[in-house]
Amino acid sequence: MSRKRITVLGATGSIGTSTLDVVARHPERYEVVALSGHQRIAELAELCRRHRPRYAVTGTAVAAAELAGLLCDCAPQVEVRYGEAALATIASLPEVDAVMAAIVGAAGLGPTLAAVKAGKQVLLANKEALVMAGGLFMAEVARSGARLLPIDSEHNAVFQSLPAHFAGNLNASGVRRILLTASGGPFRNASPETLRNVTPEQACAHPNWVMGRKISVDSATLMNKGLEVIEAHWLFNAPADRIEVVVHPQSVIHSLVDYVDGSVLAQLGNPDMRTPIAHALAFPDRIDAGVASLDLFQIAQLTFERPDLDRFPCLALAYQALRAGGTAAAILNAANEVAVEAFLERRLAFTDIPGVITGALERVPLIAAANLDAVFEADAAGRRAAHEGIRRAA
Ligand code: NAD
Ligand code: MG
Repeated sequence: MSRKRITVLGATGSIGTSTLDVVARHPERYEVVALSGHQRIAELAELCRRHRPRYAVTGTAVAAAELAGLLCDCAPQVEVRYGEAALATIASLPEVDAVMAAIVGAAGLGPTLAAVKAGKQVLLANKEALVMAGGLFMAEVARSGARLLPIDSEHNAVFQSLPAHFAGNLNASGVRRILLTASGGPFRNASPETLRNVTPEQACAHPNWVMGRKISVDSATLMNKGLEVIEAHWLFNAPADRIEVVVHPQSVIHSLVDYVDGSVLAQLGNPDMRTPIAHALAFPDRIDAGVASLDLFQIAQLTFERPDLDRFPCLALAYQALRAGGTAAAILNAANEVAVEAFLERRLAFTDIPGVITGALERVPLIAAANLDAVFEADAAGRRAAHEGIRRAA
C-alpha cells in the first residue's frame, strides 16, 4: 500500500497537533509533505524535525527566516516559504493526496479553497470557510470532484450516521432531521449577571474539549454551534428548519440523525478530536487514534436540554443569517471574529459580543454571495462595522 501524502494547514494549532499525533502513530500509512504555522515558529520547527516535510510555510518573511535558521542543520532541507500564495501552493501540490484544513478563521478560506479546486481529499476543520462562502465552496467541490471529509466532531458524527451513499438529498435518504449536540460551554448554568463579567481565561476553560482560543470563546457564546448549523446546512444540503441543536453537557454523543422510520443514529465517543481526525485520515478504513475506549459505566448518565437563546443570542443570530442568505453569514462570521478578538484582549464584555454582531448584520447591506469578491467585501465591511460597534460599546 502506498502511503497517503498529506499537507497540514495550521499544523501548530490544536487540530494540527492532534492530526500529527495520529499521523505519527501510523508511519506506514502517512507521509507529511507540507506543514504551515502562523505563530509559534519554534513549535513549527520542532514539528518539521519530527515529521520531515518537504515544505514549511509561515505568515511572514521574518517568521520564514526564523524558521529557516532553526532548521539549517536539517537534512534533507525543508523548503521554507511564506504568505498566502505559498499556503495555496502547498494545499494544491500534485504530490499531495489529502489536505488537513485547520487554519482558524477567515484566513483559512483561500488555502482551503485551493485544496478543493485541486480536487484533493479535504479534511475540513476550518468551519469559517463554509460559513463565509458555503455556496461557492460546495459548487467548487462538485466541479473539481474533491472529497470533503468533515473534522468538526458534530459533522463527522453526522457523516458517520448518514447512509454511505448519501448524496445530498435528505428526503431520498429518509432523513427527517439532523440533531447537532452542544456541550453548552463553560457558562451553561451561569446567570446573566455573572456572564457580564466573565474573563477570557474563564471562557477558554472548556469543560470537555481543549481547543484554540477563538473556538473556545465561540463555544462559550454558542456562536460555535451557530457556525456549525451553517456548516451542516452546506455539508448535508439541509435547510435551517431541519437542523436542531441539543445541549448535551457530557459531550459523548457527538451528533445524531433522525430518520422517518423513527430510527435515530448517532456516533459516540470520548471527547477527543483525534477520533474524527483518524476517521477522516483513514476513511473508509479505521485506525487506532490513541483514544481510550468509551466507558459507559463510568459516564453512567447522558442528559439533554434545550439551548437558552436569551442568555446565548449568538445561536439565534446564526440561524437568522443562514435564513437571510447571501452575504449575511460572511458578515456574521467577520463581526464575530472581531468581537471575539476584542473580548480576548479585554476591550469588550462577553455579553456585548452578540450586540456587536447584530449591529454589523443591521448596518452592512446584504447582497448575493455570487463570487469570492462579494464574500471578501462583505467580510471587510462586517469587520469595519464590528470595530465601530466595539468603539460604541466602550
Ligand atoms: P488554533 O488557534 O489552535 O490553531 C490555528 C492554526 O491556524 C495555527 O496553526 C495558527 O498558526 C494558524 N493561523 C492562525 N492565523 C492564521 C493566519 N492569519 N494565516 C494562516 N494561518 C493562521 O485553532 P484550532 O482550535 O486548532 O482550530 C482550527 C480550526 O478548526 C478552526 O476553524 C476551528 O473552528 C476548527 N475546529 C477546531 C476544533 C478543536 O477542537 N480545536 C474542533 C472543531 C473545529
Ligand atoms: Mg464542533
